[in-house]
Amino acid sequence: MSRITSIEEKMQIYLSEAHIELVKEVRAFAEEVIAPVAREADEASEFPWETVKAMAERGFLGVPVPSEFGGMGRDYLSYILVVEEIAKVDASHAITVSAHTTLGTTPILTFGTDEQRSRYVPWLASGKVLGGFGLTEPEAGSDSGGTRTRAERENGGYRLNGTKVFITHAGVGEIFTVTALTEPDRGTRGISSFIVCKPTVDLDQARALGFGHEDSLPFVEGVRAGKKEDKMGWRASDTRELFLEDAFVTAEERLGEEGEGFVNFMKTLDAGRIGIAALSLGLAEGACDAAFRYANEQEQFGRKLWEFQSTQFQIADIATDIQAGKHLTYNAAWLKDQGAPFTKEAAMAKLFCSELAMRATESAVRIMSGDGYTADYPVERMMRDAKVCEIGEGTNEIQRLVIGRQLVNEMSALTAPA
Ligand SMILES: Cc1cc2nc3c(=O)[nH]c(=O)nc-3n(C[C@H](O)[C@H](O)[C@H](O)COP(=O)(O)OP(=O)(O)OC[C@H]3O[C@@H](n4cnc5c(N)ncnc54)[C@H](O)[C@@H]3O)c2cc1C
Repeated sequence: MSRITSIEEKMQIYLSEAHIELVKEVRAFAEEVIAPVAREADEASEFPWETVKAMAERGFLGVPVPSEFGGMGRDYLSYILVVEEIAKVDASHAITVSAHTTLGTTPILTFGTDEQRSRYVPWLASGKVLGGFGLTEPEAGSDSGGTRTRAERENGGYRLNGTKVFITHAGVGEIFTVTALTEPDRGTRGISSFIVCKPTVDLDQARALGFGHEDSLPFVEGVRAGKKEDKMGWRASDTRELFLEDAFVTAEERLGEEGEGFVNFMKTLDAGRIGIAALSLGLAEGACDAAFRYANEQEQFGRKLWEFQSTQFQIADIATDIQAGKHLTYNAAWLKDQGAPFTKEAAMAKLFCSELAMRATESAVRIMSGDGYTADYPVERMMRDAKVCEIGEGTNEIQRLVIGRQLVNEMSALTAPA
């Protein structure tokens, strides 16, 4: 399929031959395997087990995970490209890859002990089971330090009680990291994190497919998923509450030291935001391509829609923003790959690209008008899928706070007396 947004050859400043080869492989897979099921999965609001299994078999659920743990052993930019490419055809599949990788797998890979890494990461990197990240609570959304979930020390372990909300993969997933207060009077320094396992809610489906469940995981009684959210977008992604009801975890399942949970989760979100930026970019590109193809085929007043300057201007604006978004996103991923600080750049990429996804999908619907408004074309789904990119992994108000704080710190460092 021809795409006006397939400009990776003009992104050589960031991309190697290996990156471009990976993009081609994922693009072919997304168009052949994901695109045909995307609309149906959205309409049914059903987790697409079979295509997720197909993604796992190609290694897409463990792209940046070292090969010693069963991952592809690629850099972070490779993972970002995979998310972007999948999002061009379907954001629900793309968030499955993104949430599983950055939120589900990397906290254990980055902050886990050798034993935790070798016990859990191979299951996650191979995609044999899905992972998730439980931070948000009813009174701890943007105020993620407002965690109410308690972890009380008991018999050498911890008793967890609390409710996490809007947790991606809470139903279909099996391995989660969650935050809980070990010392309530210490504020965010009293927040620790824990690995908890529960069986998938789709056990029969998982057993039939030989994917999505692993009997040998240490399932914890008292960890269970709530009912599936009926969402505006990302409808084929699984979002639910995750209840922790007198759930006993051993001390070996604590992730990092006591009191490190909040800082470690914030670091996880920094990286996750580059994934949401990539997903948003993919949405913008998918919508822009669909509108461009349509404008090249359809006529009004005896002329192709493309010939109207107003159409050209809309597509020109979006294509320009897509280029800008690519630079922001690839640069943030490149900084992460270099081991350089990237908090500000990740927030900027997420802020810009998520707003771009809304603008681009709205423009696409406008260009395609009546047709664009129907489910016969993917742009109405893309427009619904774009909205949550401004919310997940920190709302865009929070991104502006993060960027503002970083700028103040940078300025203070510059003006501090020597
Ligand atoms: C589909 C989906 C999937 C998700 N997946 C996960 C997941 O896997 N794991 C997880 O832990 N969470 C997940 N979340 C939760 C998500 O991170 C939160 O929804 C998000 O952080 C916002 O929190 P909230 O919804 O409670 O909104 P609130 O924090 O209540 O915000 C409401 C409004 O107030 C604004 N606001 C709040 N505080 C400030 C402030 N200080 N300054 C300016 N404005 C402010 C916000 O920007 C927003 O506009 C998911 C959410 C969705 C919708």
